[in-house]
Amino acid sequence: MEGKQCIGILTSGGDAPGMNAAIRAVTRTAIYNGFEVRGIMRGYKGLITDEIIPFQTENVSNIIQQGGTILKTARSEEFRTAEGRKTAYENILKHGITALVVIGGDGSLTGARIFATEYNFPIVGLPGTIDNDLFGTDTTIGYDTALNTIVQSVDKIRDTATSHERIFFIEVMGREAGFLALNGAIASGAEAAIIPEIATEVDQLGEFIQHGFRKSKNSSIVLVAESELTGGAMGLAERVKNEFPQYDVRVTILGHIQRGGSPTATDRILASRMGEAAIYALLEDQRNVMIGIQNDELVYIPFSKAIKNQKPIKHELLNTLKTLSI
Ligand code: ATP
Repeated sequence: MEGKQCIGILTSGGDAPGMNAAIRAVTRTAIYNGFEVRGIMRGYKGLITDEIIPFQTENVSNIIQQGGTILKTARSEEFRTAEGRKTAYENILKHGITALVVIGGDGSLTGARIFATEYNFPIVGLPGTIDNDLFGTDTTIGYDTALNTIVQSVDKIRDTATSHERIFFIEVMGREAGFLALNGAIASGAEAAIIPEIATEVDQLGEFIQHGFRKSKNSSIVLVAESELTGGAMGLAERVKNEFPQYDVRVTILGHIQRGGSPTATDRILASRMGEAAIYALLEDQRNVMIGIQNDELVYIPFSKAIKNQKPIKHELLNTLKTLSI
């Protein structure tokens, strides 16, 4: 990149803890390198409605520990249309923005890819999603915090499950991916995880209940990834209630508490490293890439790869869960 640069930052899609740490890192690294910064409110929506404000280092003071995103986030149907993106581009020109850093999940990076290609505009993406479902990165900003929230919640539910000798189906987020459910199950000592990647697991549920449950335990916790493929916690609980009326079955849907809260140290460090890397990627004339992390090394993943490929779940983790829950 040559000449005076002005970096626009936005957060888009579902919020994730650590997004603020990423905004701070992008802003400060840009300013450190002599660039100007503009904060774009409400994701692509604000780019279209022209909610764009100058950012100084003070704008990102005291936010590293805050969940959510100070830039707010929104979903924008207009940005899916060529006309909406044209207005967005006009606003970018109006504010003298020379490159964008987009922090968000799969959908946000899809939008970034389309826009970057359409206007030949430099964009670097950061994987900001609790779902951990982006290909090419071992983990995403917000995932570790959400996982820890799930584990804390399941620990509490375990107390009541044990006291009442109940089976609990606990539904966690994941948007068609089982990372939160599977790793949450291992970390909380749950008896099973029902995840969309292994559709047959759903059929194994009956067997698990019949042979596994109550052999040596007086309660069971099953983590269920929200997905049409798993049927969700409600669907599974109904099935078990019908087939095994002798069991006391309960459902908890953890819902939005999984998104909130102060980011863990792991997420803050990840967001800080990735935010810094986004600016250095632009300095190296990288564009249309997402910053990923693989074996603790930061890498550039083309948008096309990050969003098109499905990130595989580690199948051996299912065995770990099975072995440890006997
Ligand atoms: P999460 O993983 O938390 O759901 P996300 O980034 O995947 O986050 P989406 O709602 O899928 O969230 O996408 C966010 C926004 O990205 C959309 O509201 C839309 O503005 C933009 N977007 C998504 N897909 C496209 C597309 N095909 N073309 C243009 N813009 C898109």
